[in-house]
Amino acid sequence: NTFAEIDLGKELNRNIGRCKYVRPTPVQRYAIPISLAGRDLMACAQTGSGKTAAFCFPIISGIMREHYVQRPRVARTVYPLALILSPTRELSCQIHDEARKFSYETGVKVVVAYGGAPIGQQLRELERGVDILVATPGRLVDLLERARVSLQMIRYLALDEADRMLDMGFEPQIRKIVEQTDMPRPGLRQTMLFSATFPKEIQSLASDFLSSYVFLAV
Ligand code: AMP
Repeated sequence: NTFAEIDLGKELNRNIGRCKYVRPTPVQRYAIPISLAGRDLMACAQTGSGKTAAFCFPIISGIMREHYVQRPRVARTVYPLALILSPTRELSCQIHDEARKFSYETGVKVVVAYGGAPIGQQLRELERGVDILVATPGRLVDLLERARVSLQMIRYLALDEADRMLDMGFEPQIRKIVEQTDMPRPGLRQTMLFSATFPKEIQSLASDFLSSYVFLAV
């Protein structure tokens, strides 16, 4: 019933306290244990439901346990362990701000990349290292084509506001991105799909990207 009862790791629990979060919201109460148990998840969640923390906490907690993982050293290419896709620059920046607060003093590095802004600064940020990449689909495809990001090591994938991403025409980019997370060995990736609505296009993404997933509507 309180975050103190959920073992997310000492540092993350402390950061949650600093944010003055005491009780999980409904989507957090169900989504966090499901994700910590390693299950894929499709969640119906609106803005304001606390969905950002619902996907950030399991990701940060998982990476704190795993970020010693050896990553390839290829000139100028970075290998994030988690990817959060979101439809717009504004939403990506909000997620980045929150994820940075939650990951304070955890050693987990969060970087954001979005379109409609010069790429140079984002490339420099990426070069300094990244565990969690928050990105809009178009800009990420650009980074993949430039071989500045590789999705080979992705352990966690969150798609936020998936219905909005499809409305904006991002389905081809999303499919291209998700395909690349599966390259070394399928099954490495844990996936969380968040959407406010569930038209058949979203159900088809879920059946293509998720494996034996839990459906959550709160
Ligand atoms: P979101 O739906 O992720 O955009 O979150 C909506 C707002 O609720 C944000 O300002 C969060 O910081 C806040 N929030 C999320 N989870 C909690 C919680 N468990 N307790 C208090 N505030 C929260």
